[in-house]
Amino acid sequence: MSCLRRVGAPLLLIALAIGLATAPATARARPGSTQSLSAVAHDVQAGDRNDLILWRGVPDLDRAYLLGRFRWSRCRIVPVRVVGGTTIWRATRAAVAHVRRASGLPLHIQAEPLPDGRGIRVRAHALRARYTLGETSLFSLGGELWRADSDIDVAKAGSERLSTVIEHELGHALGIRHSPRYEGDVMSPVVRRGPLPLSAWDRAAFAYSGRGRCSP
Ligand SMILES: [Zn+2]
Repeated sequence: MSCLRRVGAPLLLIALAIGLATAPATARARPGSTQSLSAVAHDVQAGDRNDLILWRGVPDLDRAYLLGRFRWSRCRIVPVRVVGGTTIWRATRAAVAHVRRASGLPLHIQAEPLPDGRGIRVRAHALRARYTLGETSLFSLGGELWRADSDIDVAKAGSERLSTVIEHELGHALGIRHSPRYEGDVMSPVVRRGPLPLSAWDRAAFAYSGRGRCSP
């Protein structure tokens, strides 16, 4: 987890990685190096296995939509830095436009490196696991999301699915968990084909992720 060292120890309230698979579902969290880290990772794994059961109860919104109780400040620009060629640039621009509209968060693609390391990095990256199309690691500071690193396997995703895969990883970058449906939603753990429109669950989750605090 070299990125953890780059952003510094005080940032580490949560740090976890979520994948998007083609089939079968391979959602998993990396083991962490601190207590809170493993607790969150374990909760996510358990939640993913038990989604259908959890949803029968009265839904706690944080549990229903968010990985933790962390969101981005809704009043500060969230810089998005794309690392890769024209293909991922174009697809990310389209995905960011959808996600900005759905969440209301001021996501802004920029060419410069992330200031203070804060923001979302979307990187074209070949992922080793056979069915994994994308993976996101998430970090928070002082109860707010601060940094997200999304790796997208552009070749495995293919041109039709690419913007959906990026929207899915951006969803995790905003703190959103997998939807209860195995496939069919952008935030389902499995995406076989694309592009997919945002479903009712997706729209509610993105909107919920944009209702964080307003901090300077
Ligand atoms: Zn995922």
